[in-house]
Amino acid sequence: MAKNIPALYGSLVFNDKVMRNKLPKDMYKALRKTIENGTHLELDVANSVAVAMKEWAVENGATHYTHWFQPMTGFTAEKHDSFITPSGEGEVIMDFSGKELIKGEPDASSFPSGGLRATFEARGYTAWDPTSPAFIKDGTLYIPTAFCSYSGEALDKKTPLLRSMETLSTEAVKMLKLLGNDTVTSVSTTIGPEQEYFLVDKELYKKRKDLVFCGRTLFGAPAPKGQEMEDHYFGTLKPRVSAYMHDLDEELWKLGIPAKTKHNEVAPAQHELAPVFDTANVAVDHNQLTMEVMKKVADKHGLVCLLHEKPFEGINGSGKHNNWSLVTNDGVNLLNPGTTPAQNIQFLVFLMAVIKAVDDYADLMRISACGAGNDHRLGGNEAPPAIVSIFLGDELTAVLQSIENDTYFGKQEKIQMNIGATVLPHFTKDNTDRNRTSPFAFTGNKFEFRMLGSSASVANPNMVLNTAVAEALSQFYKELEGTAPEDMEHAVHELIKRAIQKHKKVIFNGNGYSEEWVKEAEKRGLYNLASTPEALPRFIAEKNVELFTKHHIFTKEEIYSRYEILLENYVKTIGIESRTLQEMLTKDFLPAVSSYTGSVARDTASRKAFLPSLSTEKEEKLVTDLTSAYETLTGKVEALKQLTCEVDSIEDMQKAADACHEKVLPLMEELRVTASDAEAKIPDAVLGYPTYDQLLFSL
Ligand code: ADP
Ligand code: MG
Repeated sequence: MAKNIPALYGSLVFNDKVMRNKLPKDMYKALRKTIENGTHLELDVANSVAVAMKEWAVENGATHYTHWFQPMTGFTAEKHDSFITPSGEGEVIMDFSGKELIKGEPDASSFPSGGLRATFEARGYTAWDPTSPAFIKDGTLYIPTAFCSYSGEALDKKTPLLRSMETLSTEAVKMLKLLGNDTVTSVSTTIGPEQEYFLVDKELYKKRKDLVFCGRTLFGAPAPKGQEMEDHYFGTLKPRVSAYMHDLDEELWKLGIPAKTKHNEVAPAQHELAPVFDTANVAVDHNQLTMEVMKKVADKHGLVCLLHEKPFEGINGSGKHNNWSLVTNDGVNLLNPGTTPAQNIQFLVFLMAVIKAVDDYADLMRISACGAGNDHRLGGNEAPPAIVSIFLGDELTAVLQSIENDTYFGKQEKIQMNIGATVLPHFTKDNTDRNRTSPFAFTGNKFEFRMLGSSASVANPNMVLNTAVAEALSQFYKELEGTAPEDMEHAVHELIKRAIQKHKKVIFNGNGYSEEWVKEAEKRGLYNLASTPEALPRFIAEKNVELFTKHHIFTKEEIYSRYEILLENYVKTIGIESRTLQEMLTKDFLPAVSSYTGSVARDTASRKAFLPSLSTEKEEKLVTDLTSAYETLTGKVEALKQLTCEVDSIEDMQKAADACHEKVLPLMEELRVTASDAEAKIPDAVLGYPTYDQLLFSL
């Protein structure tokens, strides 16, 4: 029977409709004011909201509530408290107060703080974020919260994001006012994250230690078929996958997540899900929730959803495209070129601010996409290169060139261009989105940041982008401030001219995968931060510390603590991978090699004894090859073990990360190549784990 999707949609969300129904009118109004304008929330309003929330949650089967937050672990965190309160005589009532709604005090000592919180001060605070709606999951009311230390330092990803949204709004409104737009009172960022993932069979998954511990395979002979037939992308969904996606959509819809598009991706067993875009803060929470629900629904279907950036060698890994734009409170997309001269000026100023932001803070953009997993993708000819550049498309590039050279767009005469008089062409997706190799592409009315890894939170890249654009706008403001309205057009023209001269180096419309681009980018002086340990020191570079502290996104201490956490995370990840590889080779693979080699040798010897004229050249070669692989692997496993111990003892996290990148990973790669080659020579039945063939083609 067809389900009533509009009724299902958001049925587990404490959304505006529920609030309006459940809250007294004045309380509802006060809450809306807080949500829309970020004004302080009075305790009586919080109490009233708490009562309404609890009532609604209990009606919908919830028994517990949790402050849901996003610590620096890469996952979300929650601690459940029940609503029950003893009411005497061995009875309980379901109770929930405004205080419990707005503030929680989880023990913060087990979350990464990068030295921010001395271990004796274990207390942390969670604070309700009323701009992201509460929801019910598995019988618990989830309240989105920000997480900070006792002394107020941010320990999560949401706090800096919220700070950056506020800063950007302030700077954008200031600029719009200066340009003569008096109606706008706030500007928010909109995000549509496209999420890639792999699905594998749960029973097979459980038999591979590398998938269980690392989320990716550490070696494996390639399947006879990869993605060369180009038959998977947009291909027909297999019944098991289709059933999964169907269920997933419904679960997401119930949570008010507007899952919109689903399809097969390029690699076998790879898929994608894209929602309709939303305000940054809500979209970030929704993406976290989407990743959780993806895993949960997979489990119900006997599947495992892999969100790792590179689960399998030899085929594409998974990324996350972060579509980003700016919208005014009256609904105007500021990155929409528009159809009138006034809109054009606005568009050009904001466009130029984004270009400047990305050029000035390309290193931070790169860092926002870093991590051990994503290092396997960036620069690997399947994802954008590690060099941050902007794709604008030919038309828009020509528009900016014509401003730079004082020529009319499309005409040859060298005359002072009047920005307003030349109405910009309307950019359709078709003429802007042909380049898939660019890390940061203009796609008609938004930018698409394509560097992100599939498992990453979208909070960081958007925090960086918002802050960098806010800074660019504030600099532009200074340049334009005091200009008389009748001179504004000319002043904007001159501003863009100066800015494009300075920042055009970051614009690149060509093939980002080519060798020439790497050389060209170096000539242009662009960063090429190939790996996480190479990128991370830029986080604490003076200009970046200045940016974040100036806009009150981070204190200097918060920046250093985050730098430390990111390094630590990288080192720990490589450590786990190394130990898993050692264990899998020692306990699963090498015994299989040895026993198979022995059986081939014995069989061959007995056949030869029986038939002395038999030629055993092939068998001898096989035994020799496998024996040599065995020797190589045992030697290198030992070396890897030692090396990993050495890295464990390095105290300086940057040095440890460098050692992981320069020594541990190359050795693991050597082991991967040798083991995969040897695996190809051994029957599947002898191996103690499922191969690529089975993992990628069994659904
Ligand atoms: P594709 O990039 O695959 O061609 P679309 O351009 O249709 O697909 O959309 C990709 C994502 O971009 C979707 O999640 C969509 O909601 C989002 N998106 C569209 N417009 C905006 C916008 N103004 N701001 C942020 N995201 C947007
Ligand atoms: Mg896209």
